[in-house]
Amino acid sequence: MNLPSYIAGEAVHSDQKLEVFYPWDNSLTGTVSKISRADLEQAITTALEGQKNPLSRYDRHAILRKAAQLMAENREEMAKVICRETGLCMRETRYETGRTSDVLEFAAAAALEDDGQVFSCDISPQGKNRKIVTFRQPLQLVSAITPFNHPLNQVAHKVAPAIAAGAPMILKPSEKTPLTAIRFAEIMYEAGLPGWMLSVFVGDLEEIVQPMITDDRVELVSFTGSVEIGKLIASQAGYKKTCLELGGNSPLIILNDADLDKAVTLAAEGSFRNSGQRCTAVKRILVQEGIVEEFTKRFVEKAKEYVSGDPEDPETRVGTVIDENAAIVLEERVKQAEKDGAKVLLGGGRRGALMEPTVIANVPRDTPMVAEESFGPLAPIITIKDLDDAIEYYNSGNFGLSSGIVTNDLQAALKAAKHLRTGTTNINEVPGYRIEKSPFGGIKDSGLGIKEGVNEAMKFMTTTKTFSFPWE
Ligand code: NAD
Repeated sequence: MNLPSYIAGEAVHSDQKLEVFYPWDNSLTGTVSKISRADLEQAITTALEGQKNPLSRYDRHAILRKAAQLMAENREEMAKVICRETGLCMRETRYETGRTSDVLEFAAAAALEDDGQVFSCDISPQGKNRKIVTFRQPLQLVSAITPFNHPLNQVAHKVAPAIAAGAPMILKPSEKTPLTAIRFAEIMYEAGLPGWMLSVFVGDLEEIVQPMITDDRVELVSFTGSVEIGKLIASQAGYKKTCLELGGNSPLIILNDADLDKAVTLAAEGSFRNSGQRCTAVKRILVQEGIVEEFTKRFVEKAKEYVSGDPEDPETRVGTVIDENAAIVLEERVKQAEKDGAKVLLGGGRRGALMEPTVIANVPRDTPMVAEESFGPLAPIITIKDLDDAIEYYNSGNFGLSSGIVTNDLQAALKAAKHLRTGTTNINEVPGYRIEKSPFGGIKDSGLGIKEGVNEAMKFMTTTKTFSFPWE
């Protein structure tokens, strides 16, 4: 699979190729042509020029609907491409294509909605016979930079709201997973998207990525990725909007009264789905002391159902992580946790980029596995005294993305929702539960509190204009 980059809808082939490897066996999956600085300039000027003839709401709606249909028709192929560049198993990659169809459908619907407001001005003694009306205007240009872990859905979560809002976008996907992003762009063009609305490309950091952040013509940098790079971008972006969706270290809090079957299932789904590489994956299972023994016993049995191995084998539920280096970091964190007093009850082994689903008990709170984000299928169990202990422990850390609590005690659930300093708290659900149009995003090191999700992202890609007129 040798793909071009796309500048304003035109394929760009070059001698400079980015190579992408299959983490499962290190075979070459494909290449993408890198662009030059002149190509980037072309993408920017074409986007600005194109905006002089904006698309109607109906056009944007129809393009997104058509794209959703094309995504459904190409589902199996897209799932295979994701698998071949991430090593995620086909169960997961098929699921991701379904989520992406939702993003496109919801964006298509949102393109038809107008949230403009009307204010009558004769409502006070200072009033006049006038009206003020608001409407949204798209930003002139949005830069987007995306990570590897959901290479299709994260690209869709930038591109689809931009189209729905009418804002042109230039997007650089993760250098680890560019093939999926390029195939997605091809689907968008096939659906009728005019070239000027979207450029998707790869290129060098200094030559291509830096100007995407610093160029004055870019009005918003929308970034999803690690805390480290997110903060770097924040320091470079200067006087422009930034949307930063960064890392997480999400807890699943399980209280003494919890339905244990539910708790065990949620803990396993949250820890192992997508090879544990979700920003909202369960990274710490906080179990109240009265049930920790029984929970742990049942959880180990449940975890055995998450068979790891060949990502293309239909039986596989956990494929590789993104590359061998990432797996080595996870393996080392398991060893360090053992040194610090934890006990591995299941897994712990590594083969190349494959990290086994791993259950670890008695994990100390300060070992790197849980003090930092461990982006893989590790399930550390930490004993908590009570809900207050869990809240205090979680809130003392730097992350603030999402959280889950398993309990039938309404007051406890509401207390968690109120006091956990995170963007999301899900009751009797995994921390990552969402629909693609609900607001999503974190606080503290996980983000600036600016949400994504189709509708919020659309709003952030526009500015509100007000105008007024006599009403006599
Ligand atoms: P990363 O930060 O390493 O890379 C993300 C993107 O930034 C890539 O496209 C990369 O090429 C680019 N990049 C690298 N250096 C850059 C620089 N100096 N300037 C500008 N861009 C640069 O992240 P990753 O490893 O691809 O993804 C995993 C991380 O993303 C995890 O921390 C995960 O929690 C986070 N994430 C967050 C969310 C969320 O919505 N909050 C969602 C998914 C993933």
